[in-house]
Amino acid sequence: MTKVYSFPRGGMIYEDNTVPVNSESVVAFLPALCIIPMVQHCGNGAYPIVSVGETVTEGMLIGRNSGTGSANVHASLPGKVVRSVKWRMSDGRINDALVIRLEGSFEKLGRREEMFPWNGLSEYEIRRILSQYGIVEMEGSGRPVIDMIHELQDTKGTVSLVVRCVFDDPWLIADRVLCYERMAHVVEGAVIAAKASGAKQILFAVSHGEEALGSRFLAEAEQYGVPVNMIVVGNKYPQRNRRELELVLRDYEKKENIEIGTLFPLGPATLAAVFDAVKYKKPIIERYVAVGGSAVKHPQVMRVRIGTRIGAIFAECGGFIDEPKRIAAGSPLMGSEVVDLDEPVTKTTYAFFAFLEKQSRISSLRNCISCGECRSVCPVGLDPEELYKINRSEKISSEAVSRAGECHGCGCCDVNCPSSIPLSISIQNLALRKK
Ligand code: SF4
Ligand code: SF4
Repeated sequence: MTKVYSFPRGGMIYEDNTVPVNSESVVAFLPALCIIPMVQHCGNGAYPIVSVGETVTEGMLIGRNSGTGSANVHASLPGKVVRSVKWRMSDGRINDALVIRLEGSFEKLGRREEMFPWNGLSEYEIRRILSQYGIVEMEGSGRPVIDMIHELQDTKGTVSLVVRCVFDDPWLIADRVLCYERMAHVVEGAVIAAKASGAKQILFAVSHGEEALGSRFLAEAEQYGVPVNMIVVGNKYPQRNRRELELVLRDYEKKENIEIGTLFPLGPATLAAVFDAVKYKKPIIERYVAVGGSAVKHPQVMRVRIGTRIGAIFAECGGFIDEPKRIAAGSPLMGSEVVDLDEPVTKTTYAFFAFLEKQSRISSLRNCISCGECRSVCPVGLDPEELYKINRSEKISSEAVSRAGECHGCGCCDVNCPSSIPLSISIQNLALRKK
C-alpha cells in the first residue's frame, strides 16, 4: 500500500469544478501588442535597457536585473518598443513596463532549436546561464533561482532538490498538464538544477493519486544516474506550501531513515525553464496558464506569451457568459484581484479566473459567530478569529504582531468562515503593524 505523508494539522480539501479540464494545452494567439513589466520577480525592478522606438528581437534582453531578488527581463515577441509606461500590478506594485508592438521575424517560434550540451558545463557556468536568462521561481513569488542557489552555498551536509508536483489546489492544473507534456524537460531541468546547486539527490514529491506520474518521473530520471526517490503526499491544501511540504519531508526523513538535509524545492514550470535556458539558451518568454471560472465560456489550459493582456486571453476562451463579479490572478484562495483587463501575464501567472458570483474574500462582512471553523483549518495553529479581532481593536501587542507574522496567507480560514470575514488580509495587515 502507498505510504502517504501529510502535514499534521489544519488544511482542507479544496475542489472547484470551474477549473479547465483539458489534459493538453492550447497555444494562445500571439498578441499584436504585449506589455512587459520590469518587475516579474520578488525584488526591485529590472532597469530597462531599450528605449521607445527601438527594435527588439524575440528573447532579447530588455531589462537588466538590479541586484538580489531582481531578474533579467526579455522580449517575448519581436517588434518595436512603442511606449514606456508605469503599470500598477494586481499585487499593488507600480512597475515600469515596455509596450512592444509585434513586427518582424521570430528567432525561436517554428524553428528547429539548437540544443547545447550541458554535461561539460561547470556549476558556475550553469548558474551564470540561469542568471543571464532571468530564471525565477515561476510557481511562487518569482524568486530568482540563482538567489536560491546562492543561499545554499553555505549549507553544510546534504542538499536535496525537491520537485514539487503537488496539486493540492485544482488551479494548479497548468502545472499538471506541463508535467505530462514536458516530462523529459522537467526531469532534465531537475538534474541541471541539482548540479548547479550541489544537490546530491532528487526527491519527486507527488500528490496522492499521482503515483503514476511519479513513477514516470523516476523512470525518466534513471538515465542520469542521480539518486532519486518519490514521496507521495496528501491532497489537503496547502500541502504544496513550503512550510507544510518541509514538515512532511522531515516526517519522511525520520520514518524512512533517509537523510535529506537542506531542501531546495522547485516546481515543474521552473524546472522546464531551467532546461530551456541551459539546453536552448532561451529565456522565459511563455508559460502555461489555467484560465477558468464560472463566467468563462470555455475554460482551458493555455501556453501564453509573457506580456499578453489577460483580457485577450479571456476573449480567446470565448469571453464571458455574463458580467463577472470577481476577476483575479492565481488561485481563488490566494489570488490577487485584477482591476484592469489590460494587465499582462507575467513569469509567475499560473492561473486567472472570472466568477459570476462574489466570493468570500470580497463578500459583505457579517459578524463573527465564534464557530471556531477558522481555527480548525489553520495549518499553522493560529487563531484567526482572535487575530482578526485584535487587528480591529486599539490594543495591539507585539506578541500578537509576531503571531500574525507566522500566517502564510493560505486562505483556508477565509474560505471556511461562514460569516465571510476576510481574515487572512486582516491578519497580514496586523503582521505589518509596528511591534
Ligand atoms: S470562522 Fe469566521 S465566524 Fe467562525 S470563529 Fe472564525 S471568524 Fe468567527
Ligand atoms: S491564512 Fe493564515 S491564519 Fe488563515 S488559515 Fe492560512 S495560515 Fe492560518
